[in-house]
Amino acid sequence: MNGTVVAAAAVGVLGLVAFGVYWVACLLWPFAACLKCDGDGKTRSPSGKTRRPCRRCDGTGRRLRFGRHVINYLRESRADERRATRRR
Ligand SMILES: [Zn+2]
Repeated sequence: MNGTVVAAAAVGVLGLVAFGVYWVACLLWPFAACLKCDGDGKTRSPSGKTRRPCRRCDGTGRRLRFGRHVINYLRESRADERRATRRR
């Protein structure tokens, strides 16, 4: 094996590991801090005086991770498939 192939394989394995870690993280911790309010649930008005509930997260301060959106979508489509096959 030459060096390029080994390097490419190493990058592939590292990518898979990183993907796996992210996937597990999305399963264990589906929520991350809202990007707009940093998990605070409130945003500051431009003047900085009043604070109102964050509109992006509805004041919860949490957002669903992108990976969790994907997982939910896959689960949903798999459930649909099962429902469709059962009907036949
Ligand atoms: Zn927010």
